[in-house]
Amino acid sequence: MTTFENAKAMGYAALVEKIQAASLQEYGLCPEPLMDKVFRATAKDGDVYVYAGLNNADVDCALLDLLREKPEKVLSGIEIAGFLAGAAAKFLYLPEEEKELTDQLRSAAGDHNVILVNDIINVREAEQDLILHIVTACDLADLVDGEYAEGTYIKTADKALAKVAADTPVSELVSLDGAKAVYLGYQYYTPEEAKELKACDATTAWIGVLTEKECIVNETNKILGKYRTRSCGRCVFCREGLIQLEYMQKEITAARGKTNHLDLTKEIGEAMITQTLCTVGQKSPDIALSAVNKFGSEFEAHIKKNKCPAGVCGAFVHIYIDPHTCNGCEECTDVCPAECIEGKAGFIHMIDEFECTKCGKCIEACEEEAIIMTSGKLPKLPSRLMKVGKFKKH
Ligand code: SF4
Ligand code: SF4
Ligand code: SF4
Repeated sequence: MTTFENAKAMGYAALVEKIQAASLQEYGLCPEPLMDKVFRATAKDGDVYVYAGLNNADVDCALLDLLREKPEKVLSGIEIAGFLAGAAAKFLYLPEEEKELTDQLRSAAGDHNVILVNDIINVREAEQDLILHIVTACDLADLVDGEYAEGTYIKTADKALAKVAADTPVSELVSLDGAKAVYLGYQYYTPEEAKELKACDATTAWIGVLTEKECIVNETNKILGKYRTRSCGRCVFCREGLIQLEYMQKEITAARGKTNHLDLTKEIGEAMITQTLCTVGQKSPDIALSAVNKFGSEFEAHIKKNKCPAGVCGAFVHIYIDPHTCNGCEECTDVCPAECIEGKAGFIHMIDEFECTKCGKCIEACEEEAIIMTSGKLPKLPSRLMKVGKFKKH
């Protein structure tokens, strides 16, 4: 018998009792006993629907690995939830960019009478129905199969998605040595704060560690870009707020940051939290707010000191040829895709910084290690071509 057939054979009352005895909770941002959600949905007048998916705000998408690894479990769980709620139809929402995964699931979803949709859940339309996290669906199927274990899912840069005890300290899941910031559950934490966090605080399962080599402004910009793409645009504050938040991070990384960008980030971010309909608008500002509030000095270094402390933001990075080390071998000119290295055999080579894309290919090609990338001040360099060894005389 399939998991769903087993659930039906158990009978409605016994199944409800089993779920309540296990204290099965909805996963993610809105935890509550699963049966409370089901009973609320069944009180609705008219047809009830099941809308399964990630939390709308989850742009990390680590939990989609559950669908990749255990599609049968998740789809069976959605089917069982549909049975409990007496649902007229069941939908599984996948992020718009996950077309390949959607295609892989299509046949199995059909077998479970689950309709696939590439979108976020319209929570206003679905508020009287049963919104179900895919982890809850998986737990439900595991419970019926006698395989349910309490815990929370975690994925890190070097560990695949796996369930761990909810109270596992974050410091046991990732190394905090050399960490500058820890990203989990929609915001950044300082390493000191992270020492107090537990696995259950990572509501999207993903725990990321940023070291001194990563730029917090640049990382924030990338995450906000994902949110801007995710926004459905119905709420003005989400649609326009994300455009503005991302624009400001971009300006700061491009050396065009202004001091009022930090205050504006806080003002817009705080307004978005209260003026938007779903978790995309409500949680996305946390990333910008936690970055600005906890790592303000890194923003100020970009804006006031014209420096990216991590040396990541191209606008603050210079690439130059050390005139005392260059032997005029011409290797670098051959590899430069922008053709912006001037020189000839036996002459000190020079980079046209205006044309340089900072791709770094010349650095790899130069055996003399004469090509240097720095986020600091440029030393005195030749202003015209001159023979190797001549520069020091000037
Ligand atoms: S907060 Fe509003 S605009 Fe943003 S994704 Fe949700 S419903 Fe759409
Ligand atoms: S590869 Fe290095 S040593 Fe050779 S010309 Fe270029 S900068 Fe000078
Ligand atoms: S960094 Fe790239 S574009 Fe710039 S000089 Fe080197 S090879 Fe050319």
